[in-house]
Amino acid sequence: MTSSPTQPQTAHPDPDLAGPLKQYFGHDQLRPIQDQAVADVVAGRDVFVIMPTGGGKSLCYQLPAVLEEGTTVVICPLIALMQNQVELLRGYGVRATLLNSTLEYAEAARRERKALDGGYDLLYMAPERLMSPAGQRLLANLNVARFAIDEAHCISEWGHDFRPEYRQIGTLRAGFGGRFKNTPMIALTATATPRVAGDIVKMLQLQNPATHHGGFERTNLYYEIRPKQQSSQQITQYIQNHPNDEGIIYCTSRARVDQFAERLRGQGIAALPYHAGLDADVRKHNQHDFIYGDTRVIVATIAFGMGIDKPDVRFVIHADMPRHLEGYYQETGRAGRDGLPADCILFYSPADRAKIEYFIEQKTDEVEKQHAYDQLDKVAKFAHTTGCRCVPLFGHFGETHPGSCGHCDNCRNPPEHQDATQDAQKLLSAIVRTGQRFGLGHVIDVLRGSKSQKVIDRGHDQLSVHGIGSTQSKGYWSQLADTLIRNGQLALTTDEFRTAHLTEDSKPVLKGDTKIQFALSRAVAATSSRSPKTSRTSANDTPLSFADQDVFEELRDLRKTLATKQNVPPYVVFGDLALRAMARNRPTTDAQFLDIPGVGQTKLKRYGLAFMDVIRDAN
Ligand code: ADP
Ligand code: ZN
Repeated sequence: MTSSPTQPQTAHPDPDLAGPLKQYFGHDQLRPIQDQAVADVVAGRDVFVIMPTGGGKSLCYQLPAVLEEGTTVVICPLIALMQNQVELLRGYGVRATLLNSTLEYAEAARRERKALDGGYDLLYMAPERLMSPAGQRLLANLNVARFAIDEAHCISEWGHDFRPEYRQIGTLRAGFGGRFKNTPMIALTATATPRVAGDIVKMLQLQNPATHHGGFERTNLYYEIRPKQQSSQQITQYIQNHPNDEGIIYCTSRARVDQFAERLRGQGIAALPYHAGLDADVRKHNQHDFIYGDTRVIVATIAFGMGIDKPDVRFVIHADMPRHLEGYYQETGRAGRDGLPADCILFYSPADRAKIEYFIEQKTDEVEKQHAYDQLDKVAKFAHTTGCRCVPLFGHFGETHPGSCGHCDNCRNPPEHQDATQDAQKLLSAIVRTGQRFGLGHVIDVLRGSKSQKVIDRGHDQLSVHGIGSTQSKGYWSQLADTLIRNGQLALTTDEFRTAHLTEDSKPVLKGDTKIQFALSRAVAATSSRSPKTSRTSANDTPLSFADQDVFEELRDLRKTLATKQNVPPYVVFGDLALRAMARNRPTTDAQFLDIPGVGQTKLKRYGLAFMDVIRDAN
């Protein structure tokens, strides 16, 4: 999935890179796409990286930044994101800082002076700062090695996360008296449809960029869809069944967020709300406590998330249906950034869909309206598929997934096919009896015995087919209809009325010569009958033994103590992956400690003694 038009593929990590990679970041080697992207960055080309969350995008510019002369200026949409990156980098012993509107004047001035003295390898800036007088002054004199544009999709109006202030980045190339006409740029994003990707290249004026596309698949994420029945109870239970895990629950409205958080707290779960209606202070506190403190669950509207980079989010639950797959992908993408398994569970209901359609109907721009309907349709297809979820999910981003991903509910536990020949005959008969002049909604109403005005007015309550399908849900019938349409045994007119009518291939079904097999989607099926075998398991999740688990817990306590003392999130000290390796390998010498993934020189110096003490005690 990688295309890099002029660069040859580098098979082995460059020895010049391997040293600093281990020394600072604690990694033994670059991942294949990073390897190629870094080579292009070092060669001074413009680079465009599309890689899923957790793929390791930041290293593509951070590693070159510590190796090279000059400062890499990183544009990042949110303060919290910048803060997080800078904390992590300083934890590695890298010279990095940030400039944004929250800094006191004197502090900002100090950092600017230091930047001009070449004191930073990486300087993070908010986009609006670029064009501010202070930003202009700074950039005019700074030795800029390159610009890195993080979350680059924010520049496109076709993306789901458009940020007007990102437009200012587009002026870098032409502005500043042409000073940055040839300064290399690297743009990075996790989500871009082909259209958005094209927009990014155009707006940033990337010159013949080397594009590295890592695909979208996140194999450590488990995708599951459940019908929305007693969902709050299901969610509470899920959280209680995973007492050591932290996660996010997304709801569509502020009121629901507040209610949900309250309810969870009532059950003794440390949960806090997050939405744009809360005071900025409260929002900040809640987010902070999720990252640094004891809050285990954040219940949020989609306003939450852009700003967090917490790597150990173990579950993301969509309590309501999302409006588009880009948002869904981005939100679920916040789970499992550390590469360890995480669950993504979506609760689907036709009522949610109707609610969203109501909002879409309020739109006045026809093009926008159609776009919104198309987007919603794709979410429904994704929820209803009885095959691998990766096919519709990544199909939306223009990627052909072969299916059988092994990390979605349908792959782990394929839905059973059932014989629906009789029901198909009922459906087709109802279409014939109503004269092939109505849409599916009406036909299904008749089948289910509706006494609605429309049904009575047409005399359809008098038909023999009226009520013969009352034992099945609307969802069941519309899914069966979808199956017949896919098979060509039923068709809809293409005009706005979408009238259902028979085809040549309907006859054998009515006669009973063709049998209809179909699997009910999980978005419709009753939950009780078949619950998924297991959710999280994956290659990098061999469970710890009991003894190792004890050591892991002790190391975790130590991590928390040190993090609190330094006022950084626990993962800035060490990620879970590193702690698990320590618990398993029990390093007691510097050399052994350096072998732990994520341990470089700085971490060894800062924390080696304390952690090895705990390990020695346990041995
Ligand atoms: P992204 O920005 O693409 O979401 P990050 O840059 O946050 O991804 O990296 C995700 C995780 O992968 C981090 O925990 C990081 O330490 C780890 N990581 C990145 N590159 C490597 C590598 N070459 N080897 C091992 N771990 C890596
Ligand atoms: Zn699958």
